[in-house]
Amino acid sequence: APNPAPSAPNRGLLLVMTGASGVGKGTLREQWLRGQDVFYSTSWTTREARPGEQDGVDYVFVTPEAFEAKVQVGGFLEHASFVGNHYGTPIEPIEAALSRGQDVVLEIEVEGAMQVKERMGDEAILVFIMPPSLTELRRRLQGRATETPERIEKRLARAREEIMHAHAFRYVIVNDDLDRAVEELRAVQGAERAKQHLD
Ligand code: 5GP
Repeated sequence: APNPAPSAPNRGLLLVMTGASGVGKGTLREQWLRGQDVFYSTSWTTREARPGEQDGVDYVFVTPEAFEAKVQVGGFLEHASFVGNHYGTPIEPIEAALSRGQDVVLEIEVEGAMQVKERMGDEAILVFIMPPSLTELRRRLQGRATETPERIEKRLARAREEIMHAHAFRYVIVNDDLDRAVEELRAVQGAERAKQHLD
């Protein structure tokens, strides 16, 4: 008898982490994804690299002109400006990863996350990372020696606005204890995977 046609792989999960700058999204993401075969989407940005940041790893650092050119050809899944710079998620590598069944993680600010929700509908699994408090958020931003006091205030003002959108996201995780928050992210991923198998 002929072999049955191989079934198409399940599409990967599209996991979108969002939340205020300084809330610890990066650290959470590193711990969560350690040892996992997940596609982490490297964003494009027009901001300057911080010391230690690598082009093509932390971000693809581009000029405003190059960014705008990619916007014009529809090359971003979402893009937003944040405290004077542009940030965007290239769409092609994400589509490729999802189609080959690989989970994808985006780590982006709130406006961009809303765009992903709009565009991808229920496929986008949106997780909002909440700071324990604004006082703690300020402390964390101040600990970043690379930011001027003025820029810290701008990021805090933006954080207040962002937190007001938390209700729009499927999951909310408070990042007061790193290990627990990572456990919760794993639980979200497991629950969404299980749900996908029910579909
Ligand atoms: P930072 O300048 O601190 O690296 O990033 C500023 C904010 O932009 C953070 O909240 C970060 O998560 C967000 N961000 C990074 N990449 C993207 C992206 O591709 N799109 C959007 N919308 N936000 C991004």
